[in-house]
Amino acid sequence: SAALVAAGLGKRYRRGWALRGCAVAVPRGRIAALVGPNGAGKSTLMALATGLLRPTEGTVAVRGKPGFLAQGKPLYQGFTVEEVLHAGRALNPDWDDAYARRLVAEAEVPLGARIRTLSGGQRTRVALAVALGRRPEVLLLDEPLADLDPLARQEVMGALLAEVAEQGTTVLLSSHVIADLDGICDHLLLLSGGRVQLAGDVEELLAEH
Ligand code: ADP
Ligand code: ADP
Repeated sequence: SAALVAAGLGKRYRRGWALRGCAVAVPRGRIAALVGPNGAGKSTLMALATGLLRPTEGTVAVRGKPGFLAQGKPLYQGFTVEEVLHAGRALNPDWDDAYARRLVAEAEVPLGARIRTLSGGQRTRVALAVALGRRPEVLLLDEPLADLDPLARQEVMGALLAEVAEQGTTVLLSSHVIADLDGICDHLLLLSGGRVQLAGDVEELLAEH
C-alpha cells in the first residue's frame, strides 16, 4: 500500500494553475525523489502533502505519522540547538531524544549554538534531527540537499536516508538537481509544468528506457 497518495490533485494561485491533475502513489519504504525544474510545482506539492496548503481540486493524503523538513530557514533563528531539541521533546509525546541527539552530535553542532549562527548544512541537519526525533513513518523533505556540500549530500543525506528507509520510513524529497539524487533514491516522480510526467521505481524506469 502507498504511503503518500494523490488523486486529481490541483492547486491554482492567482496567476493560474501551479499543479493540475496529479496522480501520485509513493510505495511504502521507498526513498522517492520529486524532481523537476524551478517552477514545476514541487514546493506546492510538498505544501499540499503537509497540509500547509489546501488543494483547489482533488485529494492528497499521507498514510502514517508524518515528519516534515520545510525549505529554507524554518527553525527559530534565535533559539539554541538545545532549546530546539527541548521544544521537540515538549511537543511530541513519543519523541526519541537519544536518536535526535545522536543525529545532532554526528553533525558536530554545539548544543549551545544559536540556529542563526549555523551554516546552511548544519541547519539542515538540526532540522532533520528534529523531524526524525518524532520517529515519522512518512518523511517529507523540501530541497534538503540544497544547503549541503557535495560530499555531505552523499555521505550524510544518502547514508542517513538509507538508514531511515531501512527502519521502514517512507521518504519523499524534492530537488531541482537530478544529478544530486544519484544513488540516493529508488523511486522517481518527475514533475514539469505542474504535471507528473513520469513516475516509478528507478530500476523499472531504467529497464524500460
Ligand atoms: P517549484 O517548487 O518546483 O519551484 P513551486 O511550487 O514553488 O515550484 O511553484 C510552481 C508555480 O506556482 C510557479 O509558477 C510559482 O511562481 C507559482 N507559485 C508558487 N507559490 C505561489 C504563491 N504562494 N502564490 C502564487 N504563485 C505561486
Ligand atoms: P521554490 O521554487 O524553491 O519553491 P520560490 O522562490 O519559487 O521557491 O518560492 C519561494 C516562496 O515564494 C514560496 O513560499 C512560494 O510559495 C512563494 N512564491 C513563489 N512564486 C510566487 C508567486 N508568483 N507569487 C507569490 N508567491 C510566490
